[in-house]
Amino acid sequence: MIDIKGITKSFGPLQVLKGIDLQIGKGEIVSIVGPSGAGKTTLLQIIGTLDRPDSGSVAIDGIDTSTLGGSKLADFRNRHVGFVFQFHQLLPEFTAKENIMIPAYIAGTQAKEAERRAAELLDFMGLADRGSHKPAELSGGEKQRVAVARALMNNPDVILADEPSGSLDSKNKAELHQLFFDLRDKFGQTFVIVTHDEHLASITDRTIKMNDGMLAGDNGNNGAEQGTPDDTNTTEQ
Ligand code: ADP
Repeated sequence: MIDIKGITKSFGPLQVLKGIDLQIGKGEIVSIVGPSGAGKTTLLQIIGTLDRPDSGSVAIDGIDTSTLGGSKLADFRNRHVGFVFQFHQLLPEFTAKENIMIPAYIAGTQAKEAERRAAELLDFMGLADRGSHKPAELSGGEKQRVAVARALMNNPDVILADEPSGSLDSKNKAELHQLFFDLRDKFGQTFVIVTHDEHLASITDRTIKMNDGMLAGDNGNNGAEQGTPDDTNTTEQ
């Protein structure tokens, strides 16, 4: 589903990613953990085509994203990738339902179909009676669920989340984490989640540790251990 090969990225003299190789399988829920400044957000942005690597490649669904540009890249991103950020980033002047439908407007989906999908997502999120509310009228947990629904609007294959529960209290945190698993089970999405939340990391299918622009252990002999989806299935004597 996601195939990352040899990604490097520098900002001026600072090399933030030093050669990342990572494969993530369809329907996997993967967490990326590591200290601040390790390069986690930069990696997530490059996977999501919001930024480009200096070298290396990212393929999603077998499509090498470096071959896309301009409106083709924007269209690919809008259809294949959903983003969830720490702060919901909903547009305050629009209702919950209108916010959820934004990616469909951008994709040119017919209004009737967009409405149907938004209603389905609101229902799935337990927000069926909140569609006409504006963000200021929703709780923190509700706002973040609306943001997740918006990320799912175009039924993308991949959801990228950067500290998605970082602004929530423990009850809403637990609900949001459960929602990711429910969504994977219902819609089959692949999740890549940058998080400092140790509990969330402990329940994901795989935890990728990053440090100083590398996958931890990647500078020695056991780097591949974290970079392949089925590393737990190896049978060694
Ligand atoms: P993390 O998510 O692990 O905290 P980031 O990927 O956000 O790490 O940042 C890694 C390093 O790259 C940090 O030192 C940060 O200051 C730097 N950095 C990130 N984005 C930019 C940018 N657009 N311009 C310059 N430096 C950046």
